[in-house]
Amino acid sequence: MPSYVITEKCDGCKALDKTACQYICPNDLMVLDKETMKAYNQDPAMCWECMCCVKICPVQAMEVRGYADFVPLGGFVTPLRSSDSILWTVKFRNGTLKRFKFPIRTTEEGTAVPDGGYASASDDLVSPLLFTEPESTKCAELPKV
Ligand code: SF4
Ligand code: SF4
Repeated sequence: MPSYVITEKCDGCKALDKTACQYICPNDLMVLDKETMKAYNQDPAMCWECMCCVKICPVQAMEVRGYADFVPLGGFVTPLRSSDSILWTVKFRNGTLKRFKFPIRTTEEGTAVPDGGYASASDDLVSPLLFTEPESTKCAELPKV
């Protein structure tokens, strides 16, 4: 099921130029209604339910129904992000609540190294090797078929 906004909770990101859900959606689906200052998904059929908007919304005003493979049918999942972890609250159909907290990074914000620190990182677009290979595979030579 595509994302949807709980309008009672949405505060339009306090009228910032671009709301958090607009900023993060890879499909540019989120729009802010300037009259009501509430966001909405302008084309739910194009939503691939990536949950980015759900995770970034600062007031937990966005929801995507959880897939049955990670939350039982009819359950709700609500993420709450901090700078180093994310807390998922799962509400089951019978009202049972469970919470799971996971680390989301191992480095300080802003310190991640784009190439992972691999000396072999290359911008050679013709090579069949991936960006950090062969160093990251720990194989001097990849098997050939
Ligand atoms: S990120 Fe949340 S609060 Fe901000 S506009 Fe979107 S739904 Fe509303
Ligand atoms: S779930 Fe993903 S694709 Fe759908 S509106 Fe949110 S950010 Fe966009």
